[in-house]
Amino acid sequence: ESILTATDLQRSYILSEATVPALRGVSLSLDEGSFTAIMGPSGCGKSTLLQLCGAMDKPDSGSLRLAGDEISKLTDEELTLLRRTKIGFVFQFFNLLPTLTIQENIAMPLLLARQSEKIAFDRARHLASQLGIEHRLGHYPNQISGGEAQRAALARAIIHEPVLLIADEPTGSLDSVNGGKVLELFQSLNQDLGISILMATHDAHVAQAAKVTIHMKDGKVVL
Ligand code: ADP
Ligand code: ADP
Repeated sequence: ESILTATDLQRSYILSEATVPALRGVSLSLDEGSFTAIMGPSGCGKSTLLQLCGAMDKPDSGSLRLAGDEISKLTDEELTLLRRTKIGFVFQFFNLLPTLTIQENIAMPLLLARQSEKIAFDRARHLASQLGIEHRLGHYPNQISGGEAQRAALARAIIHEPVLLIADEPTGSLDSVNGGKVLELFQSLNQDLGISILMATHDAHVAQAAKVTIHMKDGKVVL
């Protein structure tokens, strides 16, 4: 069963004087329970593709079926709901909210889904302890290390039990020890919880953690 099927996706950015084609006809299919790496040089379109796969953006043309929904047919409200219920997103620079504690950051997806604070904060604590950052729950993002921040971002991305975890250069701002830990966590989320993972990286070593690797160049899949 496919969790994501993309067919001939096109996406360009309009700058003042020019149109920058970022995706020039991308097709791919991800099975449920898969762990896929997208590799390619900077500027080849990885982030643009992940934003589409994460329902954060719509293609100019082409089809993208995500967990049973054709995203180009969804309204903005429906896209937001899809993002909040089925997708987890991890960014290279974590994107933790600086004015919230780590516990509040991790709990945010459940709070947005109108879960009670008790349930959201208990679940955040449980995940934080599994990830070894329970002692950081009361701290703010600028008080913790990069590796801890990435684990907090990961906890936030999975607290609502998404079916698809999308990660854009998830180890790009970490040292190799912490990067390795994040990849081990991805492998256990994939194997033990069955979460499908789609990860962009320009690092072949990082891509080895995945089961399948897709190569991109100039807005196209080349391998
Ligand atoms: P990658 O993630 O592989 O580095 P991106 O998807 O970020 O690639 O970029 C693909 C192309 O689209 C590049 O030429 C990039 O400069 C351009 N691009 C990406 N985002 C924007 C944007 N918001 N506005 C204009 N051009 C963009
Ligand atoms: P990465 O290298 O992690 O793929 P980038 O540094 O290329 O990401 O892009 C970071 C952010 O800036 C992204 O949100 C991307 O959409 C945006 N971006 C990338 N290229 C451009 C561009 N040429 N003009 C405007 N925004 C861009």
